[in-house]
Amino acid sequence: MKAKFRCFIGLGSNLDDPIQQVSSALNELALLDKCELINASSLYASAPVGPQDQPDFINAVAEIETELSPEALLDQLQLLEQKHQRIRERHWGPRTLDLDILLYGHQIIETERLIIPHPYMYERSFVLYPLAEINPNLSMPKGLPLSELLTACPMGSLLKI
Ligand code: AMP
Repeated sequence: MKAKFRCFIGLGSNLDDPIQQVSSALNELALLDKCELINASSLYASAPVGPQDQPDFINAVAEIETELSPEALLDQLQLLEQKHQRIRERHWGPRTLDLDILLYGHQIIETERLIIPHPYMYERSFVLYPLAEINPNLSMPKGLPLSELLTACPMGSLLKI
């Protein structure tokens, strides 16, 4: 039997009915081969990072258990993004669906395609608060508790919807 890993996926959208984009992506995550959806956060609205002349984002975090390797999981997530006809014109710009692997077990991964833990997750309220909603006792691969990251990260404009 193959080992299973507990992973957290960050979801975001700010184009073409973002609530629908994120909700349907959560359903699609649940249907991925060799993946089981364990938990999903509420949806949250957040102001964009970077250019402000774009709509607010809808974000959520999903907890899954998977037998897929990190790269194979990324492949599946990128297929899902394509299915949502992701339009991406500029860095930090609007997108129909963005899926990031936040954590893959307690692994620390740095390859050409993947950096895990996701490089921005420690300072983004739209990642940390949904994570805490579904797993308040989580700690990061080097043992840093999520609760400590939250203390250093104000909720700002983040709104649970
Ligand atoms: P972005 O659209 O800004 O999320 O960036 C997409 C690119 O980030 C992809 O080409 C991935 O190979 C790369 N990437 C690096 N680390 C991660 C990660 N933890 N989760 C998802 N994509 C990642």
